[in-house]
Amino acid sequence: EDDVDGGEEYLFKVVVVGDSAVGKSNLLSRYARDEFNPHSKATIGVEFQTQSMEIGGKEVRAQIWDTAGQERFRAVTSAYYRGAVGALIVYDISRSTTFDSIPRWLDELKIHFDYVILMPREVQADYNNYHAVHSDTTVARMLVGNKCDLEHIRAVSVEEGKCLAESEGLFFMETSALDSTNVRTAFEMVIREIYNNVS
Ligand code: GDP
Ligand code: MG
Repeated sequence: EDDVDGGEEYLFKVVVVGDSAVGKSNLLSRYARDEFNPHSKATIGVEFQTQSMEIGGKEVRAQIWDTAGQERFRAVTSAYYRGAVGALIVYDISRSTTFDSIPRWLDELKIHFDYVILMPREVQADYNNYHAVHSDTTVARMLVGNKCDLEHIRAVSVEEGKCLAESEGLFFMETSALDSTNVRTAFEMVIREIYNNVS
């Protein structure tokens, strides 16, 4: 696909992680196809959707990957994370166990992003030193509290979400894949941040 004015093209890989049934697949289907499935089941294998948006007159495409049920078996593979430059880390505001899992997902992202993606071969031997210098600031990460339509059974306060996000240096947003609240905004904030990181 040739750009008419010969400008650069952008394709960013973004991953969506979080415990099972927090709404990852529905966030993606709401964003990519404006669809919601009340009875969605875990699918087999990895799936992704490609979505475009315009930033500063340029077409930026995001390839957004969805863990297909592997989260149940702690079996998300490094292939899933490989090359990703953005991540949505999702919990369900009505189930605190899914919020308690967030630090584990952040650790997982750190391992894959720092080690597999960002570390040049020659510094792998000096991993600790490298990690201290680079951390994972070049990966755009957003903490997402999904199912904010379930206010009547909320188990994680907005404050708790904000607090965690601040202490970990993440963007934060509450969303609802059911009623569409903030879904587009969340994905587009991450994509915009990636664009800012690379341009
Ligand atoms: P995943 O395992 O993280 O991919 O979660 P799914 O997208 O499969 O959703 C799990 C369940 O939560 C399904 O029954 C969805 O219909 C429901 N769900 C997903 N997002 C929302 C939401 O924003 N609000 C409500 N009320 N239910 C949701
Ligand atoms: Mg799913």
